[in-house]
Amino acid sequence: MLFDAHCHLDFDSFDADREAVFERAHAAGVSRFMVPGTTRERWKAVLALGERADVVVALGLHPYFIARHGADDLEALEEVVAHGEGLVGIGECGVDARFEATLERQWELFEAQLQLAKQYRLPAIIHCVHADDQVAKRLKQLDLPARGLIHAFGGSPQQARRFLDLGYLLGVGGAITYDRAKRLHRALRAIPGDGFVLETDSPDMPLAGRQGQRNEPAHLDETLARVALLRGQDPGTVAANAWDNTHRLFRLEVASP
Ligand SMILES: [Zn+2]
Repeated sequence: MLFDAHCHLDFDSFDADREAVFERAHAAGVSRFMVPGTTRERWKAVLALGERADVVVALGLHPYFIARHGADDLEALEEVVAHGEGLVGIGECGVDARFEATLERQWELFEAQLQLAKQYRLPAIIHCVHADDQVAKRLKQLDLPARGLIHAFGGSPQQARRFLDLGYLLGVGGAITYDRAKRLHRALRAIPGDGFVLETDSPDMPLAGRQGQRNEPAHLDETLARVALLRGQDPGTVAANAWDNTHRLFRLEVASP
């Protein structure tokens, strides 16, 4: 049983075959999915997916789409969060330091969403690229009651430790499948069994050998196999840990799927 803790199944690239994508995932043992929000215009599609029994959703404003976020989008987010039933988190939110020109605005939006996570006691789903130290510092100060997920963690073993010590979980995805990701492999080996979730970030983050292709949740079993190998553990143990961790993170009942 696998839980894809982060996949954008609302994206247009799944419009033509979304049902088949779900079917392939289930056939590969991936039976639950968390779909985060990215832009306000897509929230409706995210919420619609949340109607499915096998999908849970979060809403947020993703830093990658900074140019698309309007002045009133934060207010709209708070409105949905305040009235919305069934959101398991706030996100995807965060900072991506590759886009330096918008960094200040990214931090503003991120900060506002972290405040929402604090106020509504929801876990934050955090996109954090080349900004691990600054983000960890801010999370420490904020002391969010429901903590959250460092999605697609890509930092060092020390940075992993810092997030774990703050009570955050680390998202492990396709990046781990690349042989060159030595630092990430070292970080992964040092993460305790209760410190990570598995995710694909579909349609992004293709696995090694699948570059240029659309990613989909059915491929999560390949990530599992690689994680198990790197950690020297049995895949069943890794899957069970990740399954429990994802349920704990999003405060879901551990039910058989
Ligand atoms: Zn994402």
